[in-house]
Amino acid sequence: MSEGPAAVELLRVRLPLKRPFTTSFGTSADKECVLVRAIGSDGAEGWGECTAMEAPRYSGEWNDGAWLVLRDHLIPAALAGRPSGIRGHPMAEAALEVALVDLELRSKGVSLAKHLGGVRDRVPCGVSVGIEDRIDDLLEVVSGFVAAGYRRVKLKIEPGRDAAVVRAVRDAFPDAPLSVDANAAYTRETAEVLLELDELGLEYVEQPLPEDDLLGHIELQRRMATPLCLDETVTSARVARGAIELEACRIINVKLGRVGGLVEALRIHVVAREAGVPLWVGGMLETGVGRA
Ligand code: MG
Repeated sequence: MSEGPAAVELLRVRLPLKRPFTTSFGTSADKECVLVRAIGSDGAEGWGECTAMEAPRYSGEWNDGAWLVLRDHLIPAALAGRPSGIRGHPMAEAALEVALVDLELRSKGVSLAKHLGGVRDRVPCGVSVGIEDRIDDLLEVVSGFVAAGYRRVKLKIEPGRDAAVVRAVRDAFPDAPLSVDANAAYTRETAEVLLELDELGLEYVEQPLPEDDLLGHIELQRRMATPLCLDETVTSARVARGAIELEACRIINVKLGRVGGLVEALRIHVVAREAGVPLWVGGMLETGVGRA
């Protein structure tokens, strides 16, 4: 940062979702999040969004905790221009980091894309489809997204709603680029059913096992032809390097919030690129602030 913020404001917002979104860890009908507004001495503003949720189900972070760690630790350190020295809380850290970077770039009139070294003005976009109770509802939702032009459709799965459901979608959409995401809902004991997915021509199977079960992912990847993609497990560039070298995955999903911000996300990008491992940017149902 060239010059620190003069003030930092926290806001809490709640937006209704167009459609309830169900994953293996629960259903959301609306999106509540913490926004960070960094204000420069010249009145310029930078915005960041914390990707934590209301309850600590995706990871250990949640909105109330993020609010406190931002208010009592991260923001005071940023205003004083010193390192915070805290451990954990990467979503809270990322929200502040992005707000500060946004403030600096707006002050300079530089776009985030240019700052990051971006070479394209658009990228192919996929969509994540929540778990539906009825298969007909799922097929209808997928049909809408395919017609809308999404380049990849990712289905959320959980034990009991996995291979048969994915097979029905594959039968209805033989050429669609499909993938699945279990959000760590399986164990090594219950993951056996996932081997059936190898017949369905998926792009990848995302985070089947708990985030700390690197060995389990290594063993599962050995048994599956379909690439595994790691999300929750990859909390840093160090973890990404280890997971790639040990072949716990062949694809990485990077999220700014999960890894603590832009700087660490770029390190993971470099690790993946050097290893020839595809990497894509995942979402956390962000509002327009986080998406931007
Ligand atoms: Mg995921």
